[in-house]
Amino acid sequence: MEKIHDLIIIGGGPAGYTAALYGARAGLDTLIIEKMTIGGQMTETGDIDNYPGFNEGIDGISLGMKMQAGAEKFGAVTIYDEVCAVSLSGEVKKISTAYSGELCARAVIVATGAGPRRLGLDGEENLVGQGIHYCAHCDGRFYKGKTVAVIGGGNTAVGDALYLANLCERVYLIHRRDAFRAGKILSDALSSKENISLVMNAVPTEIITDGGFAIAVKKRDGEEEKISCDGIFVSIGREPSTSLFAGEIQLDESGYVVAGEDTKTSIPGVFAAGDVRTKELRQVITAAA
Ligand code: NAP
Repeated sequence: MEKIHDLIIIGGGPAGYTAALYGARAGLDTLIIEKMTIGGQMTETGDIDNYPGFNEGIDGISLGMKMQAGAEKFGAVTIYDEVCAVSLSGEVKKISTAYSGELCARAVIVATGAGPRRLGLDGEENLVGQGIHYCAHCDGRFYKGKTVAVIGGGNTAVGDALYLANLCERVYLIHRRDAFRAGKILSDALSSKENISLVMNAVPTEIITDGGFAIAVKKRDGEEEKISCDGIFVSIGREPSTSLFAGEIQLDESGYVVAGEDTKTSIPGVFAAGDVRTKELRQVITAAA
């Protein structure tokens, strides 16, 4: 007979491993399924200095590994596999994986997080990692001494522009409105970098690869501009990783799993934690909480 775990957690980021720590400490037979990299979105950041207890800052990969070790110390088990399908409505929840077959549990915690929002322009997918990037801290080093464009106006985009300005010769920060969504401290810091050029009220319309790499934008006044660069960093927010659960669990209009602070979803025995859940603030500390 197939084994029925007490708890299966899908996703090995801060939400998943905190849930695993509490589950395992409470004596539950706890399994975590992680597709690729422990730490989730934390691994795409440089130093994390707003997670308490690490006054010198800590990189996301190390923090993820510490969270994993903390949960596994109490008996939680990690498997590296991809979940392909779920059947969650019954008393025994069934999770089909690419390599480990069907896994069963009495309770499931969805902690699949979120991923970068795409611009949705032609050719974008084919250029990922080869001109189009979604993580300045991961890929910025490829553009040392070169020219890059950063797209977006939130904390991530402005932070990315500031980070890349230390590496690159010129950084174009392209934003579709005339004001940044980013906080004042970050936005004010832009003026201290002479090699950041702001391109405001500009919506990206095309990724140009013929005759040199560039991004075309359309300004609010109708003017069109072609910004030549070596690479483009898309920093326009994130989207929840919930396509597996559509039709099973109730999602909101943006695709996040509808669940309150108690993490209960629309299905008994299925819970959601971290960035994948409907919530106000998405940070490492709130995911862990
Ligand atoms: P965000 O705050 O949602 O900002 C997304 C930005 O991208 C906005 O400026 C938005 O423009 C723009 N945008 C969205 N779709 C677009 C499209 N299709 N084309 C062009 N521009 C588009 O996302 P985020 O900056 O990734 O931040 C996510 C959350 O993490 C926020 O709560 C943020 O405060 C937090 N965060 C915090 C820190 C920190 O504490 N240091 C660092 C990074 C992120 P509009 O402004 O016009 O909507």
